Amino acid sequence: MKFCSQCGHPVIIDIPPLDNMPRHVCPNCKTIHYENPKIVVCSIPSWESKSHETSILLCRRAIAPRHGFWTLPGGFMENDETTEQAAVRETQEEAGANVKISKLFSLMNLPVYHQVHLFYLAQLENTEFSPGEETLETRLFRESDIPWDNLAFSTIKYALKFYLEDRKKILNGGHFGFHTLDLPK
Ligand SMILES: [Zn+2]
Repeated sequence: MKFCSQCGHPVIIDIPPLDNMPRHVCPNCKTIHYENPKIVVCSIPSWESKSHETSILLCRRAIAPRHGFWTLPGGFMENDETTEQAAVRETQEEAGANVKISKLFSLMNLPVYHQVHLFYLAQLENTEFSPGEETLETRLFRESDIPWDNLAFSTIKYALKFYLEDRKKILNGGHFGFHTLDLPK
């Protein structure tokens, strides 16, 4: 940040009174510009076939970073929406898919990137989906077909790993847990 968004004056870096962190401060209008982590919300959209085989919907990115790599639908939360609404919206925008959110499944802290990522379990309402503007291709993957070597981000890899591990436990009477992770490890 170079200029104050309130008055346009150049900002300085200073530790305000009663604070202990350096902030961008405007010496003209005295506004303190706090910067806090951003929240990224993703869904893990699944579809169960008539033969009870579960697949997961992934999107191939049409934008940088990681153009051409596969990801779960997700993005930055907007003001005036809940995290669940963000997950539904991003899934609609990126994959053209309608989902019903079932539960919060994972929270990942990425302090280096100033982000917190949330992952929701979601069920596809049908198998009608189509890539949005930020997506090259959208398709369902069975567990054995997941493109592990072509996933866009390590968060996606961990979310899918947690999901598949829990799903195995479900076959033996377990349930989906809640998984937290700090990255990079
Ligand atoms: Zn100012």
